[in-house]
Amino acid sequence: MKEKYCPYCHNTVDENENICHICNRELTIQCPYCKQMIKAYDEVCPYCTTKLHKPFNPMILIILGAVLSIIWLVINLILITFLNFHPALLLEKDKHGDLLLPLSDYVNIVLETMIITIVPYIISLVNKYKTKIAAAALILNVICAFALIGYFIHLYNIAK
Ligand SMILES: [Zn+2]
Ligand SMILES: [Zn+2]
Repeated sequence: MKEKYCPYCHNTVDENENICHICNRELTIQCPYCKQMIKAYDEVCPYCTTKLHKPFNPMILIILGAVLSIIWLVINLILITFLNFHPALLLEKDKHGDLLLPLSDYVNIVLETMIITIVPYIISLVNKYKTKIAAAALILNVICAFALIGYFIHLYNIAK
């Protein structure tokens, strides 16, 4: 027998379930076209054979987030390599004697991008609040992008 997935939380459900035991949404619904009782995960109504509209799939968010996380990883590796070849940049000071490019700033950004972005996607894969966690992680990902871009601009200004 083919596995059935709740169309709302994407967890496995039993064919006999009328309400998803994970997210409590109704799995037995009325076909909007012929009004017969059908399953929410049906792609085509078994009575009137009309193709049914699918609820939003959180996997899109999770995959998008995972791709973004890999991009961050590559950008960070490039930056680490760059700083490795130009270690003097990390020691440059302004007229007050403060470090222009504190390594701690960079470490913070790396930790943010790595932990804040990758971990939530992994959690969202196994959690019932997939869509919400993935959406929140995506927003954090965008915030991290701004932080990283800011650091790059800073680095560029010092390097030139
Ligand atoms: Zn569900
Ligand atoms: Zn129908």
